[in-house]
Amino acid sequence: MQKKKILVTGGAGFIGSHLCERLLNEGNEVICLDNYFTGSKSNVVHLMDNPYFELVRHDVSYPFSIEVDEIYNLACPASPIHYQHDAIQTVKTSVMGAINMLGLAKRLNIKVLQASTSEVYGDPNVHPQVESYWGNVNPVGIRSCYDEGKRCAETLFMDYHRQNNVKIKIIRIFNTYGPNMNPNDGRVVSNFIVQALRNEDVTIFGDGTQTRSFQYVDDLVEAMVRMMNTDDSFTGPVNIGNPGEFTMLELANMIIELTGSKSKIIFQPLPTDDPKQRKPNIELAKEKLNWEPKVKLQDGLVKTIEYFKKII
Ligand code: NAD
Ligand code: UDP
Repeated sequence: MQKKKILVTGGAGFIGSHLCERLLNEGNEVICLDNYFTGSKSNVVHLMDNPYFELVRHDVSYPFSIEVDEIYNLACPASPIHYQHDAIQTVKTSVMGAINMLGLAKRLNIKVLQASTSEVYGDPNVHPQVESYWGNVNPVGIRSCYDEGKRCAETLFMDYHRQNNVKIKIIRIFNTYGPNMNPNDGRVVSNFIVQALRNEDVTIFGDGTQTRSFQYVDDLVEAMVRMMNTDDSFTGPVNIGNPGEFTMLELANMIIELTGSKSKIIFQPLPTDDPKQRKPNIELAKEKLNWEPKVKLQDGLVKTIEYFKKII
Protein backbone atom coordinates (compact mmCIF):
# COMPACT_ATOMS: atom_id res chain seq x y z
CA MET A 1 0.00 0.00 0.00
CA GLN A 2 1.21 3.54 -0.77
CA LYS A 3 2.69 5.48 2.12
CA LYS A 4 0.41 8.33 3.20
CA LYS A 5 0.81 11.41 5.36
CA ILE A 6 -1.99 11.23 7.91
CA LEU A 7 -3.22 13.79 10.45
CA VAL A 8 -4.76 12.34 13.63
CA THR A 9 -6.40 14.96 15.85
CA GLY A 10 -6.70 13.84 19.46
CA GLY A 11 -3.84 11.45 18.66
CA ALA A 12 -2.40 11.51 22.19
CA GLY A 13 -5.67 10.27 23.67
CA PHE A 14 -6.74 6.73 24.42
CA ILE A 15 -8.06 5.74 20.98
CA GLY A 16 -5.86 8.16 19.03
CA SER A 17 -2.65 6.68 20.41
CA HIS A 18 -3.63 3.19 19.21
CA LEU A 19 -4.61 4.58 15.82
CA CYS A 20 -1.29 6.47 15.43
CA GLU A 21 0.62 3.27 16.22
CA ARG A 22 -1.39 1.23 13.73
CA LEU A 23 -0.97 3.80 10.96
CA LEU A 24 2.78 4.04 11.58
CA ASN A 25 3.07 0.23 11.57
CA GLU A 26 1.48 0.25 8.13
CA GLY A 27 4.34 2.46 6.92
CA ASN A 28 2.52 5.80 6.94
CA GLU A 29 3.75 9.17 8.15
CA VAL A 30 1.63 10.35 11.11
CA ILE A 31 1.12 13.85 12.47
CA CYS A 32 -0.49 13.68 15.89
CA LEU A 33 -2.28 16.91 16.88
CA ASP A 34 -3.39 17.30 20.48
CA ASN A 35 -3.77 19.96 23.18
CA TYR A 36 -3.31 17.34 25.96
CA PHE A 37 -6.60 18.22 27.65
CA THR A 38 -7.35 14.58 28.42
CA GLY A 39 -4.59 12.91 26.42
CA SER A 40 -0.97 12.61 27.35
CA LYS A 41 2.45 12.46 25.74
CA SER A 42 3.02 9.26 27.70
CA ASN A 43 0.52 7.51 25.41
CA VAL A 44 2.70 8.20 22.38
CA VAL A 45 6.18 8.51 23.86
CA HIS A 46 7.07 5.06 22.50
CA LEU A 47 6.38 6.34 18.98
CA MET A 48 8.65 9.35 19.21
CA ASP A 49 11.79 7.55 18.06
CA ASN A 50 10.05 6.87 14.77
CA PRO A 51 11.16 9.57 12.30
CA TYR A 52 7.78 9.30 10.56
CA PHE A 53 5.92 10.42 13.70
CA GLU A 54 5.38 14.09 14.61
CA LEU A 55 3.61 15.66 17.57
CA VAL A 56 1.93 19.04 17.32
CA ARG A 57 0.47 20.86 20.33
CA HIS A 58 -2.61 22.63 19.00
CA ASP A 59 -6.26 23.22 19.89
CA VAL A 60 -8.42 21.92 17.04
CA SER A 61 -11.02 24.65 17.66
CA TYR A 62 -8.51 27.05 16.03
CA PRO A 63 -7.64 26.73 12.32
CA PHE A 64 -4.69 24.55 11.43
CA SER A 65 -2.93 24.26 8.12
CA ILE A 66 -0.78 21.38 6.88
CA GLU A 67 -0.32 19.24 3.76
CA VAL A 68 -1.62 15.71 4.40
CA ASP A 69 -3.39 12.92 2.51
CA GLU A 70 -6.03 11.95 5.13
CA ILE A 71 -7.47 13.22 8.40
CA TYR A 72 -8.88 11.26 11.34
CA ASN A 73 -10.72 13.76 13.58
CA LEU A 74 -10.77 12.41 17.14
CA ALA A 75 -10.03 15.53 19.19
CA CYS A 76 -12.69 15.82 21.90
CA PRO A 77 -12.87 14.74 25.54
CA ALA A 78 -14.97 11.57 25.70
CA SER A 79 -15.56 10.99 29.40
CA PRO A 80 -18.59 12.69 30.99
CA ILE A 81 -16.59 14.23 33.84
CA HIS A 82 -14.09 15.72 31.43
CA TYR A 83 -16.49 16.93 28.75
CA GLN A 84 -18.69 18.50 31.43
CA HIS A 85 -15.70 20.19 33.10
CA ASP A 86 -15.72 22.95 30.43
CA ALA A 87 -18.94 22.36 28.53
CA ILE A 88 -18.53 25.42 26.28
CA GLN A 89 -15.07 24.32 25.20
CA THR A 90 -16.48 20.85 24.48
CA VAL A 91 -18.98 22.35 22.03
CA LYS A 92 -16.25 24.51 20.46
CA THR A 93 -13.96 21.49 20.11
CA SER A 94 -16.65 19.44 18.38
CA VAL A 95 -18.14 22.15 16.20
CA MET A 96 -15.19 24.46 15.44
CA GLY A 97 -12.92 21.43 15.28
CA ALA A 98 -15.19 19.87 12.65
CA ILE A 99 -15.33 23.12 10.65
CA ASN A 100 -11.55 23.49 10.76
CA MET A 101 -10.86 19.90 9.71
CA LEU A 102 -13.53 19.95 7.02
CA GLY A 103 -12.12 23.24 5.68
CA LEU A 104 -8.68 21.66 5.52
CA ALA A 105 -10.04 18.54 3.81
CA LYS A 106 -11.89 20.73 1.31
CA ARG A 107 -8.78 22.75 0.43
CA LEU A 108 -6.66 19.61 0.06
CA ASN A 109 -9.40 17.50 -1.57
CA ILE A 110 -8.75 14.66 0.86
CA LYS A 111 -10.77 12.26 3.02
CA VAL A 112 -11.70 13.17 6.58
CA LEU A 113 -13.10 10.72 9.11
CA GLN A 114 -15.17 11.89 12.07
CA ALA A 115 -15.11 9.99 15.35
CA SER A 116 -18.77 10.40 16.24
CA THR A 117 -20.48 8.53 19.02
CA SER A 118 -23.38 6.36 20.11
CA GLU A 119 -24.30 9.40 22.27
CA VAL A 120 -26.00 10.85 19.18
CA TYR A 121 -28.78 8.36 20.04
CA GLY A 122 -29.09 9.83 23.56
CA ASP A 123 -31.24 7.70 25.87
CA PRO A 124 -32.51 5.52 23.02
CA ASN A 125 -36.07 4.35 22.54
CA VAL A 126 -35.00 2.01 19.75
CA HIS A 127 -32.97 -0.99 20.84
CA PRO A 128 -30.51 -2.08 19.49
CA GLN A 129 -29.63 1.23 17.83
CA VAL A 130 -29.63 1.37 14.03
CA GLU A 131 -28.06 4.20 12.04
CA SER A 132 -31.47 5.29 10.73
CA TYR A 133 -32.70 6.03 14.29
CA TRP A 134 -32.60 9.79 14.98
CA GLY A 135 -32.13 9.45 18.71
CA ASN A 136 -33.60 10.80 21.93
CA VAL A 137 -31.28 13.58 23.08
CA ASN A 138 -31.93 16.24 25.70
CA PRO A 139 -30.71 19.47 24.04
CA VAL A 140 -30.40 21.41 27.33
CA GLY A 141 -28.97 18.86 29.77
CA ILE A 142 -25.51 18.31 31.21
CA ARG A 143 -24.60 15.76 28.52
CA SER A 144 -25.81 18.04 25.71
CA CYS A 145 -22.46 19.78 25.17
CA TYR A 146 -21.08 16.43 24.04
CA ASP A 147 -24.16 14.87 22.44
CA GLU A 148 -25.31 17.96 20.54
CA GLY A 149 -21.72 18.97 19.74
CA LYS A 150 -21.20 15.58 18.10
CA ARG A 151 -24.60 15.74 16.37
CA CYS A 152 -23.77 19.18 14.96
CA ALA A 153 -20.39 17.86 13.81
CA GLU A 154 -22.21 15.08 11.90
CA THR A 155 -24.46 17.73 10.34
CA LEU A 156 -21.41 19.75 9.25
CA PHE A 157 -19.76 16.65 7.79
CA MET A 158 -22.87 15.84 5.74
CA ASP A 159 -23.29 19.48 4.62
CA TYR A 160 -19.65 19.84 3.52
CA HIS A 161 -20.14 16.62 1.60
CA ARG A 162 -23.41 17.70 -0.07
CA GLN A 163 -22.41 21.32 -0.66
CA ASN A 164 -18.68 21.06 -1.35
CA ASN A 165 -18.17 17.40 -2.30
CA VAL A 166 -15.79 16.84 0.62
CA LYS A 167 -14.93 13.15 1.00
CA ILE A 168 -16.27 12.32 4.43
CA LYS A 169 -16.57 9.26 6.66
CA ILE A 170 -18.62 9.20 9.86
CA ILE A 171 -18.35 6.40 12.40
CA ARG A 172 -20.50 6.22 15.52
CA ILE A 173 -18.30 4.65 18.17
CA PHE A 174 -19.90 2.71 21.03
CA ASN A 175 -18.22 2.42 24.47
CA THR A 176 -14.61 1.45 23.89
CA TYR A 177 -11.98 0.39 26.41
CA GLY A 178 -8.40 -0.84 26.54
CA PRO A 179 -4.82 0.09 27.46
CA ASN A 180 -3.91 3.83 27.44
CA MET A 181 -7.17 4.85 29.12
CA ASN A 182 -6.36 7.50 31.69
CA PRO A 183 -6.75 6.05 35.23
CA ASN A 184 -8.58 9.27 36.19
CA ASP A 185 -10.67 9.20 33.05
CA GLY A 186 -13.90 8.60 34.96
CA ARG A 187 -15.40 6.11 32.53
CA VAL A 188 -16.80 2.93 33.89
CA VAL A 189 -14.26 0.33 32.76
CA SER A 190 -11.22 2.31 33.93
CA ASN A 191 -12.96 3.32 37.19
CA PHE A 192 -13.94 -0.25 38.08
CA ILE A 193 -10.50 -1.70 37.21
CA VAL A 194 -8.60 0.95 39.16
CA GLN A 195 -10.94 0.59 42.15
CA ALA A 196 -10.71 -3.20 42.06
CA LEU A 197 -6.91 -3.22 41.80
CA ARG A 198 -6.70 -0.88 44.79
CA ASN A 199 -9.26 -2.96 46.74
CA GLU A 200 -11.40 0.19 47.01
CA ASP A 201 -15.19 0.27 46.79
CA VAL A 202 -16.46 -0.25 43.25
CA THR A 203 -18.89 2.60 42.55
CA ILE A 204 -22.01 1.67 40.65
CA PHE A 205 -24.13 4.67 39.66
CA GLY A 206 -27.84 3.94 40.04
CA ASP A 207 -28.97 0.36 40.60
CA GLY A 208 -26.54 -1.07 38.04
CA THR A 209 -29.23 -2.39 35.69
CA GLN A 210 -28.36 0.12 32.94
CA THR A 211 -26.57 -1.55 30.04
CA ARG A 212 -23.65 -0.75 27.76
CA SER A 213 -21.89 -2.65 24.98
CA PHE A 214 -18.12 -2.62 25.33
CA GLN A 215 -15.70 -2.82 22.44
CA TYR A 216 -11.98 -3.50 22.75
CA VAL A 217 -9.87 -0.76 21.18
CA ASP A 218 -8.09 -3.01 18.64
CA ASP A 219 -11.43 -3.92 17.07
CA LEU A 220 -12.31 -0.23 16.76
CA VAL A 221 -8.98 0.73 15.17
CA GLU A 222 -9.40 -2.03 12.58
CA ALA A 223 -12.84 -0.64 11.71
CA MET A 224 -11.54 2.94 11.50
CA VAL A 225 -8.88 2.00 8.96
CA ARG A 226 -11.37 -0.08 6.97
CA MET A 227 -13.85 2.80 6.98
CA MET A 228 -11.24 5.27 5.72
CA ASN A 229 -10.42 2.87 2.89
CA THR A 230 -14.03 2.45 1.69
CA ASP A 231 -15.12 3.83 -1.64
CA ASP A 232 -15.68 7.63 -1.67
CA SER A 233 -19.41 7.04 -2.20
CA PHE A 234 -19.79 5.54 1.29
CA THR A 235 -19.96 8.27 3.92
CA GLY A 236 -21.69 6.49 6.80
CA PRO A 237 -22.73 7.15 9.49
CA VAL A 238 -21.91 3.62 10.51
CA ASN A 239 -22.08 2.10 13.99
CA ILE A 240 -18.83 0.63 15.29
CA GLY A 241 -19.25 -1.34 18.48
CA ASN A 242 -19.50 -4.76 20.06
CA PRO A 243 -23.12 -5.92 20.35
CA GLY A 244 -22.45 -7.86 23.56
CA GLU A 245 -24.65 -6.08 26.12
CA PHE A 246 -23.89 -6.03 29.86
CA THR A 247 -25.36 -4.38 32.94
CA MET A 248 -22.99 -2.32 35.07
CA LEU A 249 -23.58 -4.84 37.85
CA GLU A 250 -22.39 -7.67 35.59
CA LEU A 251 -19.36 -5.60 34.58
CA ALA A 252 -18.45 -4.82 38.20
CA ASN A 253 -18.68 -8.48 39.21
CA MET A 254 -16.64 -9.60 36.22
CA ILE A 255 -13.85 -7.10 37.00
CA ILE A 256 -13.81 -8.00 40.71
CA GLU A 257 -13.48 -11.66 39.78
CA LEU A 258 -10.78 -11.13 37.13
CA THR A 259 -8.67 -9.01 39.46
CA GLY A 260 -9.22 -11.27 42.49
CA SER A 261 -10.14 -8.07 44.33
CA LYS A 262 -11.48 -7.70 47.86
CA SER A 263 -13.50 -4.65 46.78
CA LYS A 264 -17.17 -4.26 47.77
CA ILE A 265 -19.76 -2.86 45.40
CA ILE A 266 -21.41 0.39 46.53
CA PHE A 267 -24.26 2.27 44.90
CA GLN A 268 -24.15 6.02 44.20
CA PRO A 269 -26.70 8.35 42.57
CA LEU A 270 -27.24 7.95 38.85
CA PRO A 271 -26.02 11.05 36.94
CA THR A 272 -28.69 13.08 35.10
CA ASP A 273 -29.68 11.84 31.62
CA ASP A 274 -27.59 8.67 31.97
CA PRO A 275 -28.79 6.41 29.11
CA LYS A 276 -30.59 3.27 30.37
CA GLN A 277 -29.46 0.95 27.60
CA ARG A 278 -27.11 0.88 24.67
CA LYS A 279 -26.29 -1.74 22.08
CA PRO A 280 -25.28 -1.28 18.45
CA ASN A 281 -26.82 -2.89 15.45
CA ILE A 282 -23.71 -3.52 13.33
CA GLU A 283 -25.26 -4.96 10.17
CA LEU A 284 -24.12 -1.95 8.11
CA ALA A 285 -20.50 -2.27 9.31
CA LYS A 286 -20.58 -6.00 8.51
CA GLU A 287 -21.84 -5.30 5.00
CA LYS A 288 -19.76 -2.24 4.09
CA LEU A 289 -16.54 -2.88 6.00
CA ASN A 290 -16.64 -6.67 6.15
CA TRP A 291 -15.93 -6.13 9.84
CA GLU A 292 -17.14 -7.39 13.16
CA PRO A 293 -15.51 -7.23 16.58
CA LYS A 294 -13.36 -10.21 17.53
CA VAL A 295 -12.33 -9.57 21.15
CA LYS A 296 -14.65 -10.91 23.86
CA LEU A 297 -15.24 -8.66 26.87
CA GLN A 298 -13.49 -10.99 29.27
CA ASP A 299 -10.35 -11.22 27.06
CA GLY A 300 -10.20 -7.48 26.53
CA LEU A 301 -10.63 -6.83 30.23
CA VAL A 302 -7.71 -9.15 31.05
CA LYS A 303 -5.43 -7.12 28.73
CA THR A 304 -6.70 -3.84 30.15
CA ILE A 305 -6.20 -5.03 33.72
CA GLU A 306 -2.58 -5.97 32.86
CA TYR A 307 -2.05 -2.43 31.58
CA PHE A 308 -3.47 -0.79 34.69
CA LYS A 309 -1.43 -3.07 36.96
CA LYS A 310 1.70 -1.59 35.36
CA ILE A 311 0.74 2.08 35.63
CA ILE A 312 -1.08 2.56 38.93
P1 NAD B 1 -9.61 10.78 25.09
O1 NAD B 1 -10.14 11.84 25.98
O2 NAD B 1 -8.63 9.80 25.62
O3 NAD B 1 -8.96 11.42 23.79
C1 NAD B 1 -9.35 12.66 23.24
C2 NAD B 1 -8.09 13.41 22.84
O4 NAD B 1 -8.47 14.67 22.26
C3 NAD B 1 -7.19 13.72 24.03
O5 NAD B 1 -5.86 13.41 23.72
C4 NAD B 1 -7.38 15.22 24.24
O6 NAD B 1 -6.28 15.84 24.84
C5 NAD B 1 -7.65 15.68 22.83
N1 NAD B 1 -8.38 16.95 22.76
C6 NAD B 1 -9.47 17.32 23.45
N2 NAD B 1 -9.85 18.56 23.11
C7 NAD B 1 -8.95 18.97 22.16
C8 NAD B 1 -8.81 20.16 21.40
N3 NAD B 1 -9.65 21.20 21.54
N4 NAD B 1 -7.78 20.25 20.53
C9 NAD B 1 -6.91 19.23 20.37
N5 NAD B 1 -7.00 18.07 21.06
C10 NAD B 1 -8.01 17.96 21.93
O7 NAD B 1 -10.88 10.04 24.49
P2 NAD B 1 -10.98 8.78 23.52
O8 NAD B 1 -11.78 7.76 24.22
O9 NAD B 1 -9.67 8.44 22.95
O10 NAD B 1 -11.91 9.39 22.38
C11 NAD B 1 -11.42 9.78 21.11
C12 NAD B 1 -12.58 10.18 20.21
O11 NAD B 1 -13.47 9.09 20.07
C13 NAD B 1 -13.40 11.34 20.77
O12 NAD B 1 -13.77 12.19 19.71
C14 NAD B 1 -14.61 10.66 21.35
O13 NAD B 1 -15.73 11.50 21.33
C15 NAD B 1 -14.78 9.48 20.41
N6 NAD B 1 -15.52 8.39 21.07
C16 NAD B 1 -14.92 7.64 22.05
C17 NAD B 1 -15.65 6.63 22.67
C18 NAD B 1 -15.04 5.76 23.74
O14 NAD B 1 -15.75 4.92 24.29
N7 NAD B 1 -13.78 5.85 24.06
C19 NAD B 1 -16.99 6.40 22.32
C20 NAD B 1 -17.55 7.22 21.35
C21 NAD B 1 -16.81 8.20 20.72
N1 UDP C 1 -20.78 4.28 35.77
C1 UDP C 1 -20.80 3.64 37.02
N2 UDP C 1 -19.74 3.83 37.86
C2 UDP C 1 -18.66 4.59 37.53
C3 UDP C 1 -18.64 5.21 36.26
C4 UDP C 1 -19.73 5.03 35.42
O1 UDP C 1 -21.74 2.92 37.35
O2 UDP C 1 -17.73 4.70 38.34
C5 UDP C 1 -21.92 4.04 34.87
C6 UDP C 1 -22.50 5.31 34.25
O3 UDP C 1 -23.47 5.89 35.10
C7 UDP C 1 -23.09 4.75 32.98
C8 UDP C 1 -22.16 3.61 32.60
O4 UDP C 1 -21.45 3.28 33.78
O5 UDP C 1 -24.37 4.22 33.22
C9 UDP C 1 -21.16 3.98 31.52
O6 UDP C 1 -20.53 5.19 31.90
P1 UDP C 1 -19.34 5.84 31.09
O7 UDP C 1 -19.07 7.18 31.71
O8 UDP C 1 -18.22 4.89 30.98
O9 UDP C 1 -19.90 6.02 29.60
P2 UDP C 1 -21.26 6.58 28.98
O10 UDP C 1 -22.27 6.86 30.06
O11 UDP C 1 -20.85 7.81 28.27
O12 UDP C 1 -21.69 5.48 28.11
